[in-house]
Amino acid sequence: MEFRNLGFQNSCPRWEDISQMHKADVTIIGAGVVGLAIAAHLASPGKAVYILEKNERFGQETSSRHSGIIHSGIYYPQGSLKARLCIEGNRLLYELCQRQGIGCSRLGKLIVASNEEEIKQLQELQEMGKRNGAEGLRMLSRSEMKNLEPNVEGVAALLSPSTGIIDANALMGYFAARAKEGGAEIAYRKKVVGIEKVADGYQVTVEEGDIERFSFTTNILINCAGLQSDKMAELAGIDIVKAGYKLHYCKGEYFSVGGGKNKLVKRLIYPMPEPKVTGLGVHITLDLDGRMRLGPSAEYVDSIDYTVDSGHKEAFYNSAKKMLPFIEYDDLEPEMAGIRPKLQGPEDDVRDFVIRDESDKGLPGLINLLGIESPGLTSTPAIGRYVAGLVKGIL
Ligand SMILES: Cc1cc2nc3c(=O)[nH]c(=O)nc-3n(C[C@H](O)[C@H](O)[C@H](O)COP(=O)(O)OP(=O)(O)OC[C@H]3O[C@@H](n4cnc5c(N)ncnc54)[C@H](O)[C@@H]3O)c2cc1C
Repeated sequence: MEFRNLGFQNSCPRWEDISQMHKADVTIIGAGVVGLAIAAHLASPGKAVYILEKNERFGQETSSRHSGIIHSGIYYPQGSLKARLCIEGNRLLYELCQRQGIGCSRLGKLIVASNEEEIKQLQELQEMGKRNGAEGLRMLSRSEMKNLEPNVEGVAALLSPSTGIIDANALMGYFAARAKEGGAEIAYRKKVVGIEKVADGYQVTVEEGDIERFSFTTNILINCAGLQSDKMAELAGIDIVKAGYKLHYCKGEYFSVGGGKNKLVKRLIYPMPEPKVTGLGVHITLDLDGRMRLGPSAEYVDSIDYTVDSGHKEAFYNSAKKMLPFIEYDDLEPEMAGIRPKLQGPEDDVRDFVIRDESDKGLPGLINLLGIESPGLTSTPAIGRYVAGLVKGIL
């Protein structure tokens, strides 16, 4: 994909030329959508900004294993980073997509109550969303809901008109191009294996393949390592259990819905969220090509394994059929899975994103981003701005 006004002009030394004599201004660990968004904000001529990524390409982990939804900011506690950055990110993403021709669609979403008891919860969600600043939320009676979505079953619904979908890969391509245009360099197949605080910043040790190791220093180090971000914080000397930084993996599986059923709804259709918002409930998502999926589920796991258990098909079918009676068992096929990097363990209350400079832990210039689960994709332009603000405060 081509983006406007992007002519490459590397202003920092090529990664291959960097030596211990050279000091990076800013080093970002991880070229997922978050690391790329931050790089796009920070890159500027004359500033040496590097993004280190262990994989061959950007966005190969959580950033390509999600629902691709631009959330409206309903579910998160008032004043939390999740609420603030999601609301700001929603607005910025639509503007960005329009300006840069990145694919997106403001489809809108319905959260459906399946019984009278859930109507009260829907009203609470509406109030929460309004307090956060989510746009245009409106309660719908059953007949109003049926007018919009005749094939959906329920007793009432909450309409969120500012929810939409985005081509996340194109968004990452845009952030990467912006970062490179500003002079930043993305170095692939570079796994960070050591972080040491030194007098004037951090010594970072990087492994290429299994053997070659290389160290350099950086003034500011930004940890956007997604599922490994707690390990990076630990490498820097933080006691992650004491700091509340230990991540819990929570797997979300998706089943595709075939049989031409994608023509039967126009919006994203959600049930009530799971307790403590572990997940948003197995819902219908549509992508920009009109493909329909059910998911994601929410199951805490011990390791990273993206296989979808076809034995879960029955549970998906049963949870969807009440709200979406047109779905038949044979329409469902296992599709893909993603893993949420959660700070919140199975028994814990909702946790916010951690995005902070660690000066108070004796580590000034180390900026940690942990627990960047949903609405992380939606929040990216706002996270980029927020972290740029933290960096400005340090430099
Ligand atoms: C099932 C699911 C559904 C979701 N749906 C939505 C949604 O609809 N809308 C929404 O807003 N958000 C959604 N999210 C959240 C969103 O996907 C994430 O917040 C976002 O992708 C996180 O991006 P990231 O860059 O932090 O992490 P990642 O994409 O995981 O990137 C981290 C990068 O760091 C690299 N890395 C790790 N360790 C090292 C190392 N030692 N050295 C070098 N590189 C390293 C990794 O290789 C990786 O590329 C969903 C998440 C999941 C799991």
